[in-house]
Amino acid sequence: MDLLVVGSGFFGLTIAERAASVGRKVTVIDRRHHIGGNAYSANDPETGIEVHQYGAHLFHTSNPTVWEYVNRFTTFTNYVHRVYTNHKGIVFPLPINLGTINQFFQAAYSPNEAKAVIADLAREFDVKDAANLEEKGIALIGRPLYEAFIRDYTAKQWQTDPRNLPAEVISRLPVRYNYDNRYFNDTWEGLPTDGYTAWIERMADHPNIDVQLGVDFFDPAQPLNKEATVGQLPIVYTGPIDRYFDDAEGALSWRTLDFEKEVLSVGDFQGTSVMNYADSDIPYTRIHEFKHFHPERADRYPADKTVVMREFSRFASRDDEPYYPVNTAEDRAGLLAYRELAKGEKDVYFGGRLGTYQYLDMHMAIGSALSMWNNQLA
Ligand code: FAD
Ligand code: UDP
Repeated sequence: MDLLVVGSGFFGLTIAERAASVGRKVTVIDRRHHIGGNAYSANDPETGIEVHQYGAHLFHTSNPTVWEYVNRFTTFTNYVHRVYTNHKGIVFPLPINLGTINQFFQAAYSPNEAKAVIADLAREFDVKDAANLEEKGIALIGRPLYEAFIRDYTAKQWQTDPRNLPAEVISRLPVRYNYDNRYFNDTWEGLPTDGYTAWIERMADHPNIDVQLGVDFFDPAQPLNKEATVGQLPIVYTGPIDRYFDDAEGALSWRTLDFEKEVLSVGDFQGTSVMNYADSDIPYTRIHEFKHFHPERADRYPADKTVVMREFSRFASRDDEPYYPVNTAEDRAGLLAYRELAKGEKDVYFGGRLGTYQYLDMHMAIGSALSMWNNQLA
């Protein structure tokens, strides 16, 4: 074995695939019983509908290197993601666009009129100086829209006062003064034609790659555990950075998600793939309806059944799957301390969403793995 990769998500598999392609022998371990990390999907046994087990995953990128790389393993459908949100029982289009603004204000503003109205409402804060998510939200769209569509949803999703969250979280959501309601701005977008798991399996399908599932790096009973391997060969570690050091600098805060899946005897439950729930009196943040991700599979999916999944968000305890770094000021200080510790780990490379404590989309995880391979490991 030339390289040990801990974690079989997109970061770990990209490293493994690159190393295998130049003749290196790689072992990938994962404590879960499937590969693919959070991008893993499986067909619902009753309906055959592909369900993203850890929440809806939409692939999008503007990075030509990443796009070329991922197309080696899968083709993509022409799915374009659109999201709607339910506020006080009325459905509005997201991200906030002229349609949302006009529906909210019961108006027919032109783009320039809407810009003037929002600028007037947004005067409280300046986008450039916004110190936290709330200030940034108000600076971008004004207080009424912020309070309707962002404040309570964000508080539900992060269980943290938006004033204690970094402004960047909201930078992911564009605001548009036209009726374009594409959720993403990227050049390329789509879903893997044969599903995520087929894509992931093709990345791992190489004689130089040995995947071992159900193996926890911190379990002393496993031959490939931390004590036995660190210092013996290069290791790419994609689990949580704080767990690697046994929380020596304090536990970083993570959010986890609970999903409630249900098969319903209706052909179409909500008419779209993702419906957000903006208000605090609804305990879940959104409902996913998976058949809408693949309209091209309509002849394979049942006409009278559908699979929906409600998503609930909460703080992760030590035994939960960590999904999203919360990233408060205290967390950022902790992260700096862990980065210092990481520098002292001989031949251990920390990567991915958990290993760097960063909000990374799939294309970013893959892009940063390609960079780590080219710049540090190759
Ligand atoms: P992961 O996929 O988390 O993989 C890490 C792996 O390490 C896991 O399989 C874990 O089991 C394993 N591991 C951890 N600790 C150990 C250990 N001690 N021993 C052995 N194995 C261990 N991205 C998008 O581009 N579009 C989206 O729409 C999107 N939606 C998302 C929705 C949700 C709810 C979540 C949580 C993420 C979403 N993402 C999305 C992000 C996407 O999941 C990540 O970018 C991608 O999975 C990152 O890959 P990774 O390899 O860094 O981490
Ligand atoms: N957001 C919101 N209302 C919405 C959708 C998103 O306030 O209806 C905010 C929220 O703070 C969220 C951020 O925008 O964390 C990014 O949203 P995105 O849909 O990208 O989150 P993800 O899909 O990664 O959970």
